[in-house]
Amino acid sequence: RQMTPPPKPPAKAPGSPPLPRQNSKTAPPSPPKVIVDKSGRVSFNRVGFLGEGGFARVYEVKDPRGMRYACKVVTKSSLKTKKAKTKLYAEIKIHRSLQHPNIVHFQDCFEDELNVYMTLELCTSGSLMDLLRRRKRFTEPESRFFMVQLIGACHYMHTHQVIHRDLKLGNLFLDTSMNVKVGDFGLAALIEKEGERKKTICGTPNYIAPEVLFDTANGHSFEVDTWSIGVILYTLVVGRPPFQTKDVKAIYKRIRDNEYEFPPDRSPSSNAQNLIQQILTPNPSERPTLHEIVDHAFFTQGTVPSYIPTSAHDAPPDFR
Ligand code: ADP
Repeated sequence: RQMTPPPKPPAKAPGSPPLPRQNSKTAPPSPPKVIVDKSGRVSFNRVGFLGEGGFARVYEVKDPRGMRYACKVVTKSSLKTKKAKTKLYAEIKIHRSLQHPNIVHFQDCFEDELNVYMTLELCTSGSLMDLLRRRKRFTEPESRFFMVQLIGACHYMHTHQVIHRDLKLGNLFLDTSMNVKVGDFGLAALIEKEGERKKTICGTPNYIAPEVLFDTANGHSFEVDTWSIGVILYTLVVGRPPFQTKDVKAIYKRIRDNEYEFPPDRSPSSNAQNLIQQILTPNPSERPTLHEIVDHAFFTQGTVPSYIPTSAHDAPPDFR
């Protein structure tokens, strides 16, 4: 397989959450305390701030019946270019077409003079990234539980011709019952023709598949999500991503050379190691299918808990 030299790094920094794009001087004003649709069709009370991403700020809102949602706010001033508009419309079109218990539900979308708003299912327990920071790493039963839900959501997306392209712990949110909800469809792509290949270099360095970086002529497809699933599994059981190092270029070199190891002091089970190795195969056509992944001994020979107790926020639960 022809390997081309690494292209320039994607916009996001390794592992760390994306930097807020605007500094305090140019930060947009907060959306109104009462958010009302241009046509007066809907109204929400803004009750809290949840977080900030590459181009959006996310608030907690309540509708007149007291139902709580997350509300993703994109300022119209950031949508001046055709490219920015196309990207946001693609995110909305893709996200609103998906309905699955492990995908953040897209409730509605509307605008006022200053902003575009997307109301989403509220995930009150943060992301798996936040949880991993507190917990350091997860037990294998917990990891199986999170992975089964993630793979289910991913299988659903793929059967609906959607590639997520940015699966990572920071985009896996948790509801109050510790169920996984895949969010942030900002980099998702729709495969409209069978066999179509995508050429845009995107993703987050630690989780990016080698073909996205080094096979730009051929493009990439659904298997990039499978690769990220392998990186996620490694990260859950080891506590840090497999190719992590000091700078982005070095991460890309390690991805290109398939260079990672299982630290002896926190070595996962041999089944986990074997599955991770199978998924992190450089050639995308040799990666296991999602069905093959859930049929692997790591899942079939170990306990998959039916739920995760909320005590798991602070300490490993005991699944015996
Ligand atoms: P961007 O697409 O700009 O990267 P994200 O969709 O990743 O934005 O959201 C940014 C932050 O907002 C997240 O890291 C998280 O803290 C918070 N957030 C996003 N969606 C939700 C949600 N559905 N429920 C709770 N918090 C959310």
